[in-house]
Amino acid sequence: MSVEDLFSPDYGTARGRFLAAAERAGARVASHVLTGERGLASEELAMDVAWLGPAEPRDVLAISSGLHGVEGFVGSALQVELLRAHARAPLAPSGTAVLLIHAVNPFGMSHVDRANEANVDLNRNFVDHETHSHDNPGYVHLADAIAPASLDDDADTARLARLRDFAAEHGVRRLEEAVSGGQYTHPTGLYYGGRRTQWSAERLLAIARDAAAHARRVAWIDVHTGLGEPAALSLLSDLPAETPAFQRARRWYGAAAESLVGGDATSVVTHGSLDFGLYDALAGAEEATIVTAELGTRPPFEVFLALRARNWLRHHGDEDRASPRARALRDGLRAAFDPRITRWREDSLAALRDAVRQTLTGLGGEPG
Ligand SMILES: [Zn+2]
Repeated sequence: MSVEDLFSPDYGTARGRFLAAAERAGARVASHVLTGERGLASEELAMDVAWLGPAEPRDVLAISSGLHGVEGFVGSALQVELLRAHARAPLAPSGTAVLLIHAVNPFGMSHVDRANEANVDLNRNFVDHETHSHDNPGYVHLADAIAPASLDDDADTARLARLRDFAAEHGVRRLEEAVSGGQYTHPTGLYYGGRRTQWSAERLLAIARDAAAHARRVAWIDVHTGLGEPAALSLLSDLPAETPAFQRARRWYGAAAESLVGGDATSVVTHGSLDFGLYDALAGAEEATIVTAELGTRPPFEVFLALRARNWLRHHGDEDRASPRARALRDGLRAAFDPRITRWREDSLAALRDAVRQTLTGLGGEPG
């Protein structure tokens, strides 16, 4: 099967393929429709869920895609491939269910954006919004250089120079933390965590709680792109390296498993990531192993510039989808997170396929 049959050109095509493959695989399907919003082609937006295997399983393997909208295409390709394979032969042993959650952020996936319908970065939204306070002084300091109101004037050269100067003075990691660690003060900025729990976050955690209700063990892979070397897979955890859950991930995945805590990992430590929500939601299971799968695409600065330009379009530019500039900026973001390169797509999918196999082996190979 060619990768082009798996990597969809747009959200609507991806959704159609997922639902068709789920039906052919005999999956139990639930569609959570996002009301009050439409897609770029005015299509309905939904988070679709396919459940394969026993209703009350011993173990569950969950794979979610598109928490970051535009990053969803490789995860979608993996899910469609798994569903098509399951139609021929069961993916998992008889006591294990496979849960596939497609397009957690359907708005972003359709509109070619990383953020959701409220400009929230969902992977910074999993905090207790009643009690939560998080300061990111680096972001506040650099806010208009990170997410400027104009891209065209000479002043932008000076803004980008401010970012370089900050990195020169404080180090690249400090700049990365300021930009992408998460911020809760600039609603039209990048990596904005929001002031309340978003629809996608609420739905996803409800799905996770249901899945964990009867299961002994749950393994969760949330698929992302945009961090790391091209097509290299990192399996990131927010837990310290010495915790049993991280040690288990290390046994399953080897060196690809990385703890974000106190290390030199592919990503900086982020605030309010899905991990924090999932560990609570999966508390009903005896054992939960959660990883963020990151596939590298382009160099970090290129990815950042594409995000920055897309953010400008959303808040200060002309969002009209027919305008050539709007299309170019969306295409630029898509290319930064889903390179239209056959080799990249094949290698990325192969790496994810391996991780799925390792997860099933891990679930099957150890007593609970
Ligand atoms: Zn992501």
